[in-house]
Amino acid sequence: MKKARLIPLILIVFSMTLLAQRTKLRPGYNIFNPQQDVELGREVAKDAERQLELINNSNANAYIGALGQRLASKVPNENKFPFYFKIVNDRSINAFALPGGPVYIHRGAIEAADNEAQLAGVIGHEMGHVILRHGTNQASKAQLTQGGLGILGAVLGNGAAGQIAAVGGGFLANSVLLKYSRDAESQADLIGTQVLYDLGYDPKAMAEFFDKLAKEHKGTKTEEFFSNHPIPENRVTKVNAEIKKLGPLPPTPRADSPDFQDVKRTMLSLPEPAKRDTKAEPGNSKPPSPPSARTLEFNANGVRLRHPDNWKSSVQGTHATIAPDGGLIGGNLAYGMIADVFQPQGAGGLEQATTQLLNQLKQGNAGMQTTRSPVQTKVDGRPALLAELANDSPAGGKETDFVITVLRSSNELLYFVMVAPAKDVPQYRNAFNQVIDSIRLK
Ligand SMILES: [Zn+2]
Repeated sequence: MKKARLIPLILIVFSMTLLAQRTKLRPGYNIFNPQQDVELGREVAKDAERQLELINNSNANAYIGALGQRLASKVPNENKFPFYFKIVNDRSINAFALPGGPVYIHRGAIEAADNEAQLAGVIGHEMGHVILRHGTNQASKAQLTQGGLGILGAVLGNGAAGQIAAVGGGFLANSVLLKYSRDAESQADLIGTQVLYDLGYDPKAMAEFFDKLAKEHKGTKTEEFFSNHPIPENRVTKVNAEIKKLGPLPPTPRADSPDFQDVKRTMLSLPEPAKRDTKAEPGNSKPPSPPSARTLEFNANGVRLRHPDNWKSSVQGTHATIAPDGGLIGGNLAYGMIADVFQPQGAGGLEQATTQLLNQLKQGNAGMQTTRSPVQTKVDGRPALLAELANDSPAGGKETDFVITVLRSSNELLYFVMVAPAKDVPQYRNAFNQVIDSIRLK
């Protein structure tokens, strides 16, 4: 009898331990290694800090640094990403983290938080994106689905960091690296909630704060935050389910600190920030200098060609971007070219493969339209097709994309995309033609 009664009891204890297991999260698909996250984040941070104004108040900076490091001591940071924390002089309610550790908190987020627990929750959430490598995961996925138009050629160059610096241009982070999926948001929520719990804060503080912002400020000062961090379904419910797994709550959870209120008052008393430097915004960027008449050789992946010597190339795998300084705006290619390989489905020949490629490019670029159907041309003496597409230019207005395709084998379509804003095409046409004429295939 005694034994028989023991078994259910063991089962109950066992299932309770199961219940108490917190959710363990792992980074997803990634073509970068963790060290590249760090290098990439550093380069993008340099770029970001040229465009953002940071708060220069030693008290506030010491506070945010100390709070951040307290959180950093608790998050499951298996790759040992070197976190640091800075306050941006911007009153919109926002925060963002770059791959490998840089975390930026807008002054507006501190002003909007009711207490330290809420602010800690926001920071913990951002750190979740870092340790789960959501930025480079997102970039890796974009590389798969979009065939690489945009940021990736620059980001993925050999020695990612150097290549970004080389191509220069806009604030790359704003495009691929900071646009997370709803799943990524839920994961970051769990990390934020876990770290609040581990530090003795009220673990509901993060989800409640986000939920309050979503309701109160819809479409206003939080627009940027929620466009980069889409609201996950059932946010509060999911967080509450996690809290149940974390274990008993402290009887009087930590919510606030006098230091937080002090810093919040400081932020509120600072003068309005100067108008944000808009040099990276569409339409306000300085166009790159025109294509040089002198040329440089490019030779990779069995493709040789000559491009203007004021363009720089970066290659990752089959994907190459060749662009002038300032040719990337907000992370997207506005001036220059891409060379890559597309693997068509079936053996339908050049025309069918080209149609498939154009469809894929359009899937990755909502505003893209064919303005001239493919016409026959030659690349290195081989039959090729040339199509013209229109798309929204990262420089503002419309851009023209010249797409040249040539079959290297029955299952390998080489393609070249030449990009310039429509108004600048006359200035670039010659350079594009010379590049195409110079292409030699192995
Ligand atoms: Zn997020």
